[in-house]
Amino acid sequence: MKLHEYQSKLIFGEHGIPIPRGRVAMTAAEAKQIAEELGTQVVVKSQVLVGGRGKAGGIRLAKSPEEAEETATQILRMKIKGLPVRKVLIDEAANIDKEIYLGITNDRASKKPVMMASSEGGVDIEEVARMMPEKIIRVYIDPLLGLRDYQARDIAMDIDLSRDHWRNFGQIAKGLWNAYQSCDATLAEINPLVITADDQLLAVDGKMVIDDNALFRHPNLIDKRDLDIEEQAEIEARKYGLSYIKLEGNIGCLVNGAGLAMTTMDIIKLYGGEPANFLDIGGGASAEKVAAAFRIILSDPNIQAILINIFGGITRGDEVANGILSVMEEVKTQVPMVVRLVGTNAKEGLQILADANMSTAVTLADAAEKAVAAIAVKEVSAVVRKANK
Ligand code: GDP
Ligand code: MN
Repeated sequence: MKLHEYQSKLIFGEHGIPIPRGRVAMTAAEAKQIAEELGTQVVVKSQVLVGGRGKAGGIRLAKSPEEAEETATQILRMKIKGLPVRKVLIDEAANIDKEIYLGITNDRASKKPVMMASSEGGVDIEEVARMMPEKIIRVYIDPLLGLRDYQARDIAMDIDLSRDHWRNFGQIAKGLWNAYQSCDATLAEINPLVITADDQLLAVDGKMVIDDNALFRHPNLIDKRDLDIEEQAEIEARKYGLSYIKLEGNIGCLVNGAGLAMTTMDIIKLYGGEPANFLDIGGGASAEKVAAAFRIILSDPNIQAILINIFGGITRGDEVANGILSVMEEVKTQVPMVVRLVGTNAKEGLQILADANMSTAVTLADAAEKAVAAIAVKEVSAVVRKANK
C-alpha cells in the first residue's frame, strides 16, 4: 500500500526527521487559510500516488495566501497520469541550495534492506541511476542490528556532505530506518532531502510503501488506503478474501492456490492464450466466495472464456462440482467455461459437470487447450456471422 507524501512525512516527523511546517487541504479555501497561518511563501503540492508530480505541473510555489488559493484551485482540478487530485499539501516553501536522495528498500539478492543515497537527488534521480550509477551509494542493513552509526557516516562521506551536516544526517538516516522498520515498509524515500539556504537539512518530499501482508499489524495505516489507484474489482475481491489481480488477456482463471494460479496462467500462455487475471480463491472456498469470484471475473469486459482449475484436497471434487453448478444458476453467463478437477472425488465431480453439459478436463494442458480453442471458435463464428450478413 502506497502512502501519500503528507502521510509519509508525518511518519518521518514522528521519527525525528525535520519536515516543513504545513498541512493537507481538501479545498482551495482551506489551502488559503493554511497559507495564512504559515505566513510565508508556500508550495502547493498535489497529493496523488504517482511519481513526477513536479514535472506534471502538480507542484507550484505561491507567494501569498491568495495565490495559494488560486493555485490550489487549479491543481485540485488536475488529473496527473490519470489520477484525480483530491488533496493538496500546503507546506512552507523551502529555499533550496542542494537536493539529495535518500531511500531504503528491500534488496532481494542480499536478503537485506538497502539504504541508497545520492548527492544528485531531485526529480531526475532515475536519469542519474541510468547515466551515472556510480553516483548512487548503497549500504546494506543487517535487519537485526539496524542502521549503524558508522554506516550513516560512511554515506554522509560518500555523498560529499560537509562534516558539519554529519550529525543531523545521521539522525535523519536513522529516523528513516526506524520509520521503515516500524511500519513494515518495503520503501521509505526522501527525494529530495534538501540543504536549505540557511544550511539546514529538510525532507521536502516523502514516499512510503507498506507491505500489504503486514497491514494487519498497522490498523491505523489501513484506513489510509487510497482507493483511487486500485481497480474496483480488486477492492471487491479483497472484501471476500480473494487474491485477484487484473491482467490484459481474455481468459479468466478461477483457481485454488497461488502456485496453481501461476501455473494455470503459464499454461494458458503456452497454448497461445492470454490470462485475463490472477485469481486465488484460497483453500476451502465456500460457494459464496466462488460466486463472488465469478462475478469479479465476469465484470471484466475482455473475458471470452473461463478456466476453472481446482485441486480437491479437503474440499471434495463432487462438492466443488455441485458448488459450481449452483453458482452457475445464480451468475447466468454465456461465456464458455472449462473445468479441470483433480484430487479427492475428482471422477465423481467431473461426471456431475459432464452431465450438466459443462466442458471438463483432466490435465491442465487439456484444459488450457480447450479454453484457448473456445475463444478461437467464438472468433471464427463471429467472422462467419459477419460474412453472412
Ligand atoms: P515529485 O516531483 O513528485 O517528486 O515532487 P517533489 O515534492 O519532490 O517536488 C519536485 C521538485 O519541486 C523538487 O525536487 C524541488 O526541486 C521542487 N520543490 C518542492 N518543494 C519545494 C519548495 O518548498 N521550494 C522550492 N524552491 N522547490 C521545491
Ligand atoms: Mn520527489
